[in-house]
Amino acid sequence: MDKKQRNFSTWYFLIAILAVWFFNDLIYKPFIIRETEVSYNVFLQDLAENKINEVILTGDRIVFTLKATENQKETVANVVAVNDPKLVERLTAAGVAFSAQAPTKSLLSTLLGWILPLLPLALIWYFLFKRMGGGGANAMSLGKSKAHEIQGEMIGVKFRDVGGVGEAEVELREIIEYLKNPNKFSQMGARLPKGVLLAGSPGTGKTLLAKATAGEAGVPFFFLTGSSFVEMFVGVGAARVRDLFQQAQQKAPCIIFIDEIDAIGQARTSVGRLGGNSEQENTLNQLLAEMDGFKANSGVVIMAATNRPEILDQALIRPGRFDRQIQVTLPTEPGRLEILNIHTRNMPLSPDVDLERLAKITAGFSGAELANIANEASLLAIRRASNTIAMADFDLAIERVVAGLQRKTPLSDDIRTKVAYHEVGHALTAYYLPGTDPVHKISIIPTAKGALGYTMQMPEEDRYLIGENELKARMAVMLGGRAAELIIFAEASTGASNDLQRATEMARRMVTEFGMSSKLGPVRYAAAAGAYLQSGISSREDLSPATVACIDEEIHRLLEDAQKTAHHILTEHLEGLHAAARFLKDKEVISGDQLAALVSTLPVSS
Ligand code: ADP
Ligand code: MG
Ligand code: ZN
Repeated sequence: MDKKQRNFSTWYFLIAILAVWFFNDLIYKPFIIRETEVSYNVFLQDLAENKINEVILTGDRIVFTLKATENQKETVANVVAVNDPKLVERLTAAGVAFSAQAPTKSLLSTLLGWILPLLPLALIWYFLFKRMGGGGANAMSLGKSKAHEIQGEMIGVKFRDVGGVGEAEVELREIIEYLKNPNKFSQMGARLPKGVLLAGSPGTGKTLLAKATAGEAGVPFFFLTGSSFVEMFVGVGAARVRDLFQQAQQKAPCIIFIDEIDAIGQARTSVGRLGGNSEQENTLNQLLAEMDGFKANSGVVIMAATNRPEILDQALIRPGRFDRQIQVTLPTEPGRLEILNIHTRNMPLSPDVDLERLAKITAGFSGAELANIANEASLLAIRRASNTIAMADFDLAIERVVAGLQRKTPLSDDIRTKVAYHEVGHALTAYYLPGTDPVHKISIIPTAKGALGYTMQMPEEDRYLIGENELKARMAVMLGGRAAELIIFAEASTGASNDLQRATEMARRMVTEFGMSSKLGPVRYAAAAGAYLQSGISSREDLSPATVACIDEEIHRLLEDAQKTAHHILTEHLEGLHAAARFLKDKEVISGDQLAALVSTLPVSS
């Protein structure tokens, strides 16, 4: 943005200078003058040769009349006046009639000379304002906030449209009580938080919750996003904040909702911005000042939402500002069922649809993803030309959301064999190893995201705590694909690189974050997870080389162990591996139940 602004002013000045120069030239030097202009030595020569009749000296020019000759009438010419002290002497000597005239310019030309150069500038400003005003061509609207004011009754979103947010809803109900009856609260001497910050991962329903709050309270709702404050012109962001709070105070009780507040609320010392973004700082400072400025019980509640509360400026979340943080978490199983119910409310479901089972297998899905699944399922039903949505549609919809759209590219037989063994390697390791999530499905249909195959495991319940042995089992499953390739083809392939990455990351966290290495002990070696470094060791400068070597060694050991575990399981069930791989290559997709039926009767090799 800074760069754009600089470019703009450079152009602006260039055009201005050109315009002034051009128009001056045009006004002060009409074409007649230009056409008949001669150089001074020509003039002197004419004078000496006695060709000149009459001379008029104006301030900056000498206008003279040439005597008529046989083939030419009397003509007028002019010459730029030079500082020639002998001019009068020369003229007298030549015996030419001469007179002086004050340099006159008509009033019109003077005015035009001033106004015309300004005209293009005015036009440029006009268009710029128009473009930035977002429709309103009025330059005065720049400092106006762009908040959409919505009347509470018109929002139409209520808490019954939001599912699985539990605690958050309880807290917001209190705010609604207050908005409906601010006087009751001030009579009791209660002070409500000025600001409420909704924090949680994307798609958990923060924006939806804010709308529902306004909808329930039935008060005006000023909705705007953090980025709409910050624009091209310096000072506009701060002016917008001021205007927003003024408007809101007139409409109290009401809600101001700033969505994605991180756009202005980022910590002011954030790195990575060239020379610092002082515009963003000004806007933030203005917001802080306004929040301090109005009284606690003024009836204005400021809500904000962010995906990344950790990068917000500390000043923004201290008491008296956004002093209440509401965590909007991913929904738990009953929450997911609620959300699925909400989004299938108006859908014709066939009797076989089991939303409870769907809620069970969608641990980790956000509200937005669940809404997406419901929508995908209805689209699939329409494509089948069915007028009800079946369970199969939901199953396929889940897969699409999880693995991306199915893409059918024919792959060579060799590759398909390898992929089949690789995926069955994952699946069988998971099947036989205790403490792993059950296998839901194995597929060797390539996905749009570029995976040649995938093994889907579905957790049976939400997990809040994971034990060390479970983590080890998960790593073994991740390395199971590669182990199968090594057993069958005696060489590894590039197909395992993503598995390796995930397994290594897990081992690293076990060692450096969870203290699960006996050698290194219960010590955290990972740097605090920053905004841009999610996890892992961001800087090893404070660790001794011996410690670093030890960390690497422990990671290596964990991974080797996991690979050995997988290798052991797969060699023990080699027949199952062959059978399942053959079956998978043939069918392309097999379910967890099919896998179990296939391998449970096979003997264990020693
Ligand atoms: P966020 O603002 O947290 O990123 P949104 O509120 O924009 O998420 O959610 C996007 C959409 O996902 C919503 O419009 C709604 O359809 C659906 N959704 C998300 N969370 C929920 C929820 N808890 N209950 C019902 N629908 C939800
Ligand atoms: Mg949002
Ligand atoms: Zn794999």
